[in-house]
Amino acid sequence: MNRRDLLRLSVAAPSLRLSAQSHKRRIVVIMMDGFGLEYYDASAMPTLKRWAVEGLFVRVQDQMPSVTNANNASICCGVPASVHGITGNSYFNRRTGREDFMEDGRLLLASTLFQKAARHNVVSGLFTSKKKTVSLLSAGTSVAVAAETPSPDVVKRYGTAPNIYSAEINYWLWDVVIDHLAKRKDVGILYVHTTDYPMHMHPETSAESRTHLATLDKKLAEAAHVAPDAAFYLSADHGMNRKTRAWDLDKACFNRGVPLRLAISAERDKYPKHHRGLGGVAWVYLRQPQDAERAGGLIEKLAGVERVLTREQAAKEFDLMPERIGDLVVTGDRDTVFGTLDRETETLPAAYRSHGSRYEMRVPLIIRDETRKLNATEYRRNFDLTAGLLTP
Ligand SMILES: [Zn+2]
Repeated sequence: MNRRDLLRLSVAAPSLRLSAQSHKRRIVVIMMDGFGLEYYDASAMPTLKRWAVEGLFVRVQDQMPSVTNANNASICCGVPASVHGITGNSYFNRRTGREDFMEDGRLLLASTLFQKAARHNVVSGLFTSKKKTVSLLSAGTSVAVAAETPSPDVVKRYGTAPNIYSAEINYWLWDVVIDHLAKRKDVGILYVHTTDYPMHMHPETSAESRTHLATLDKKLAEAAHVAPDAAFYLSADHGMNRKTRAWDLDKACFNRGVPLRLAISAERDKYPKHHRGLGGVAWVYLRQPQDAERAGGLIEKLAGVERVLTREQAAKEFDLMPERIGDLVVTGDRDTVFGTLDRETETLPAAYRSHGSRYEMRVPLIIRDETRKLNATEYRRNFDLTAGLLTP
């Protein structure tokens, strides 16, 4: 979708009506980027914690790799990456022979919540801090707002959005959502995706993080206040950990006599200030199949590498689409990330925080919906959040 289409959509008058009988209640789905359980546990957040007590609260796991696009697509489609095909933030594009960002909606192979809503004649809106979410997920929406690149019309109404590298952009985004909840009652499903920049910058125990999450909690209270009819469904894509060690697997393998075709960090996206593209999972593409054993053997010996899996093993274990991951899949321990470096390995600065590995899989899932009888045993993964919301 190009900018003009987006602009047109964001100012378009509602053309669809809610089907009054089946969807009386508006639904707000919240994908709180980087909001791992460690952040949930360390922050006061009185509104969210009351919802957890009164509604449903489950400690769930994310979709591996623990990166945004794979999990955003999972939550928005209610299915694992083996079905929707978004296996990370980046992938090896066989057509161009290059590493590419995985943020084009044409790569998405399952129906989004918005497309399902449209089939039920429900108007839906996507509200995100990051513009990549719009290119990936906005098909089927009637309203799409990216705080990173708001249309002139949106800026006129809500003022200039703060920088994408800030906590304030999340507050601005929520003000837009709250205004839509108050004034656009025809929008039956709202999907809100914040940015994890504050989590990359600040650990869960810091004053900055507590301020960020307390402010978001106030926005939740405000949203519930202006939309007393609304149900709230909240989960996250991944947690966040301090990382100390990075490997460039291309250089490490070349230096040990087994050159690779390509090694890709599944986390690499267009937000280098968050994490420099380094993440806890790497896809390794071999020059020839017979290199698998030697490359796998030498990678396994690198400090901080936890596991080296074959494509088939990783696809099965992590619910991934085999055509869209590496010949080998490498996972790091809690301290280790992979990506492109100036040399084969690097000690990361003390403040460096990132995600991607199985150590960032634990996230909260919270539902406040008085119209449904909810059973905690049905929720094991973050994308179970939306699985029962609308039938295809
Ligand atoms: Zn994220």
